[in-house]
Amino acid sequence: MRVRAVWALWSAILTAAWMLAVWIEQSQGLGGGDIQLVWLLRRDVLLLSGVWSLGMMSLAMWLSLRQPWMERPLGGMDQVYRLHKWLGISAAVAAVLHWGAKEAGGWIKAGWGTAGRPPRDAMLAWLADGRGLAKDMGEWAFYALLVLVVVTLWQRLLPYKPWRWVHRVMPVLYLALVWHSLVLLPQTYWQQPVGWLMGALMALGSVAALWSLLGRIGRARRYAAEVYAVQLLGDKPGQDPLEVLCALPAQWPGHRAGQFVFASWDAREGAHPFTVASAPGACGCTPDGRPLLRLVIKPLGDYTAQLHRSLQPGMAMQIEGPYGCFDGQAGKKAAQVWVAGGVGITPFLAWLEARQPDAAPTAGQQPAHLHYCTRDAAHDVLLPRVQALCAEASPPVSLTVHDAAQGQRLQPQDLERHGAVLDIWVCGPQGLGNALQQGAAVAKGQGGRWRLRREAFEMR
Ligand SMILES: Cc1cc2nc3c(=O)[nH]c(=O)nc-3n(C[C@H](O)[C@H](O)[C@H](O)COP(=O)(O)OP(=O)(O)OC[C@H]3O[C@@H](n4cnc5c(N)ncnc54)[C@H](O)[C@@H]3O)c2cc1C
Repeated sequence: MRVRAVWALWSAILTAAWMLAVWIEQSQGLGGGDIQLVWLLRRDVLLLSGVWSLGMMSLAMWLSLRQPWMERPLGGMDQVYRLHKWLGISAAVAAVLHWGAKEAGGWIKAGWGTAGRPPRDAMLAWLADGRGLAKDMGEWAFYALLVLVVVTLWQRLLPYKPWRWVHRVMPVLYLALVWHSLVLLPQTYWQQPVGWLMGALMALGSVAALWSLLGRIGRARRYAAEVYAVQLLGDKPGQDPLEVLCALPAQWPGHRAGQFVFASWDAREGAHPFTVASAPGACGCTPDGRPLLRLVIKPLGDYTAQLHRSLQPGMAMQIEGPYGCFDGQAGKKAAQVWVAGGVGITPFLAWLEARQPDAAPTAGQQPAHLHYCTRDAAHDVLLPRVQALCAEASPPVSLTVHDAAQGQRLQPQDLERHGAVLDIWVCGPQGLGNALQQGAAVAKGQGGRWRLRREAFEMR
């Protein structure tokens, strides 16, 4: 919801800045005259789509900096990534419009002739020599941007790992598009709010792009850690989850239950996000006083499937974070309902540990009900731990297990028994979250109020 609201607000700001420019041009008698409507329309689409595309991309560049202060307004780093993705898609759609408007010049000339064509916009004089290059760079960057967006959305075309490497070219494309816009933005724009806004965005976005190219994103929150212990939970390596205890340096700022970190054991592989599956302080410290935290890693892909072989106690690793706002903090009037699917149980393990008798008291906790969806309860190695933690939790947490092997799939209606006003925290497969989102819409139609908070395990 917040992601949509910020996207809509940003689109409105960009559009308003451009409309103000149109209004200023008209009030100064610059835009109309003998200009044919079709040519005027083409110019408007060209400029508005350019403002949209660069404006969206600039904000996306900023969001890629992973700054913790971005999390609160958006509801967590996973939501920051969601907005980043939608801004990227919107920028590409606007770029298609921009390209279409540019190409339309030839078609209009063929159909209507050049009569009534507006004079070419003057650009900044000191950049006039760069016009040809700026046009070419804009065109090539546009094609590359389209390819990047297609491989991002069409996930089967390119697996995550090569996609991540390809995605790193984005700051270079952005800088090319900044050059294109700097040279080709009408000179009159630079004396108006739209030009000031674009100038500020280009400057800030370029700083973010350079920051990214220098490999500095997240560096201030990266800690040299160590694998303290590794345990396979179950007896099937490569299928059962792995529990990894990590020892952090004394500078580690600590985490809140439900937050996640980026963990890296191999610089070539890069960092993977994992929820900290322990409450703050719950794992204690190493004999030399380094704080410990726990990760529970399910082998969901090729890299995580071989971790049981490669991870050894004493191995150096890096941890970046903590990130996320999936913290269970909510209003007191709504009933707390937690929904976990598979390894999506990890943030709830941390929350449950924070409710154990020996945990430090946390303000704002209230009774909750946990729905745990598992493929096969009889062989679920995490289930006994969940049951034990729920049994001891205070304030209490009651538990319902939905065992898919027995045909017990959670339906949104199952949550109705908790009341009409619900505060629902969901972590699990996308389909589960989507089903509950639809359930929330149905409940709203029946006078209920479900507030849904989702932790997305997908960042692409
Ligand atoms: C906020 C968050 C918290 C998570 N917490 C846990 C957890 O507690 N336990 C757990 O088992 N899993 C967790 N995951 C999922 C975990 O990150 C992926 O399963 C893991 O990275 C898969 O890597 P792979 O190379 O083995 O699989 P691949 O087959 O390469 O990837 C499978 C999917 O995992 C995601 N992924 C892979 N690499 C990365 C990366 N470097 N950064 C972001 N996403 C990536 C992509 O969506 C990809 O499509 C979490 C994910 C997120 C976003």
